[in-house]
Amino acid sequence: MSAKPRRHILAETPESLAPWLAEAGEPAFRGKQIFEWVYRRRAESFEAMSNLPKLLRDRLAEAFEIYTSSIARRADSSDGTIKLLLAWPDGATSECVMIPDGDRRTVCIGSQVGCPVGCRFCASGIDGVERNLTAGQIVEQVMRVEQICRDVDRVPDETTLHQLSNIVMMGSGEPLANYQHVMAAVRILNAPWGLHIGARKITISTVGLPKQIRKLAEEGLQVNLALSAHAPNDALRRELIPWAEQIGLAELVAACRHYFEKTGREITFEYILLAGVNDRAEHAEQLAKLVKQLRCNVNLIRYNPVSPLPFGRPTSDATTRFQAILRKSGVNAHVRKSRGMDIDAACGQLRRKAQAESVVTPAARVPNDGE
Ligand code: SAH
Ligand code: SF4
Repeated sequence: MSAKPRRHILAETPESLAPWLAEAGEPAFRGKQIFEWVYRRRAESFEAMSNLPKLLRDRLAEAFEIYTSSIARRADSSDGTIKLLLAWPDGATSECVMIPDGDRRTVCIGSQVGCPVGCRFCASGIDGVERNLTAGQIVEQVMRVEQICRDVDRVPDETTLHQLSNIVMMGSGEPLANYQHVMAAVRILNAPWGLHIGARKITISTVGLPKQIRKLAEEGLQVNLALSAHAPNDALRRELIPWAEQIGLAELVAACRHYFEKTGREITFEYILLAGVNDRAEHAEQLAKLVKQLRCNVNLIRYNPVSPLPFGRPTSDATTRFQAILRKSGVNAHVRKSRGMDIDAACGQLRRKAQAESVVTPAARVPNDGE
């Protein structure tokens, strides 16, 4: 009877839980109580749900689990950024990050274990993709980070969850290649009975899958879309991003324009500046022409070097020059602050490091978060 794998409560909704409750002979309002315990009061066990009958608590514990990960590593940056490496029951690991900025707390989460795209500059795709994260695991990353925020900010228990200002899906993986789980998670993050984080505070960053961008536009959600452009023309983009072989910038711009028209949300174009590769004046001029075809802004990201990969971080002068050319052409361009530089800031780095260390010294899992 109890040999069946338990369901992850963080992937459930009031609708999906209703048949189970009915079968257990419980009234429907129990669903509301359960989610209140999980998302408002942050219960870590069904046992703690003290206004539920004991028998129901026992049956819930047999059929469901709440938290499924353990924190394999934690790295604290001197700038307040905190990175967690979560280990899932199957041995897969994924990173999530809390980035404080004044009163704001941004959480950066992943969508897959590894990444199938394999961009030449990125640590996440070096070994390909291991698997998708499930909806429950995506939500659990946010919950784990939120717990850290509470500890850091000394928020007393049993306060409603409003510690997180923004959620960005910019960790490992290509979210639109795991569309179903990502959307199920976004709905739970957004739901009033769930984490209740406004869709406008949730950003999905994608390498650019036009069909899925158009589908996302029809979801009736106002999530922000960030397109990882990284090059102002297809030839250069193909050198950096393997999937650009099949997908051209013109097609992506058209899909993004459709997204803006449907949702009213301005697109963000992300552009990693790689020293000597895509950071010249002519690149900036070409990029300005490209992005002026739609309502968008540009986020310039100075590359965080990843040890075996042959790319360098541009100087801040080169970065400012690039930004100035965009601005002179009337493009709204910002340089993203680099955070957590002392804790392997680039997504996928901590996971790789932990994997490498456990291969070399399986027994001694001593954190080493230096340079
Ligand atoms: N796969 C999605 C989302 C995850 S990557 C995407 O590519 O958009 C999120 C962002 O982090 C992307 O813009 C990506 O290019 C950037 N990124 C990856 N590695 C980086 C590095 N080493 N330094 C700076 N930004 C990096
Ligand atoms: Fe995957 Fe994004 Fe990294 Fe490219 S940049 S390999 S799409 S995670």
